[in-house]
Amino acid sequence: MAVSKCTRLSGPLIKQLLDSVDNVLFDCDGVIWRGDEAISGAPEVINLLKKTGKGVYFVTNNSTKTRKMYADKLAKLGFNATEEEVFGTAYCSAMYLKSVCKLEGKVYLIGSNAMRQELEKVEIEQIGVGPDHVSGTQFDWANVALDPEVKAVLVGFDEHFSYMKLNKALQYLSNSDCQFVGTNTDTRLPLEGGKAVPGTGCLVKAVETAAQRQAQVVGKPNRFMFDCVAGKFNVDPNRCLMVGDRLDTDILLGSNCGLKTLLTLTGVSTVADAETHQKSGCPVRQGMVPDYYVDSIAELLPALQG
Ligand code: PLP
Ligand code: CA
Repeated sequence: MAVSKCTRLSGPLIKQLLDSVDNVLFDCDGVIWRGDEAISGAPEVINLLKKTGKGVYFVTNNSTKTRKMYADKLAKLGFNATEEEVFGTAYCSAMYLKSVCKLEGKVYLIGSNAMRQELEKVEIEQIGVGPDHVSGTQFDWANVALDPEVKAVLVGFDEHFSYMKLNKALQYLSNSDCQFVGTNTDTRLPLEGGKAVPGTGCLVKAVETAAQRQAQVVGKPNRFMFDCVAGKFNVDPNRCLMVGDRLDTDILLGSNCGLKTLLTLTGVSTVADAETHQKSGCPVRQGMVPDYYVDSIAELLPALQG
């Protein structure tokens, strides 16, 4: 298809693009749902893609749910999907510690119960989930009790993040043999009405600053998420499409892995953002320019129904 980048996907181009791929990776929030509501038409698009024989996978940076929790949410919102088709950062971080870090020992986990469950599934012991704080100025912060079996610190979304947790992470990471992994670096989580709350990137940054070390980041745009899908389902990157609403995570992941990329405007990024990257002349930022964009993935429906 001889078209320039950042092209509005419409008319016959939609069918051409769909015919050119066997597998489609969908980001979740801002693409197939927003919060607890499906994007209008998204379940039909996903279900029809699967009906036509495409492989469909869900790739999310959100570390607060297990694969099972995502499968339940997908089913509730009307999507045909199995647990095996879901690749969230809670699951992928556990896989990363197991298969890439080859961790032998426990994890000090700054994260969610869902992350604890995914670690347990691959038989990695963890400590740290839940509230952990003290008050008072006399506390001996530099001599907190540490578990000598901890060999990695993993940071994901944690609503109980505290100075104590930050301090413990620093103490563990003072040992250079202790591995340091973060689920993702999304800085803000956008909410309805233009509001936002701090994302996991803020927590990873805090630990990096305290420990004076850089985390290995599992989530998009790191290609590990794609490798998890491709390893399991034998995906050919040349015949695969990545659909996302964020240029710096989803679209960059697609570019990093040689996939075709489609930006949907139901989430974070805009066409103006993409054009700014395109015009910057910066080679890295070209990876954040999608091949195509649509207002919503519902625009794929007519091509699938016809
Ligand atoms: N991390 C958290 C904690 C979130 O709540 C969200 C979105 O709801 C995300 C990351 C981004 O998720 P996605 O990659 O599906 O857009
Ligand atoms: Ca998203």
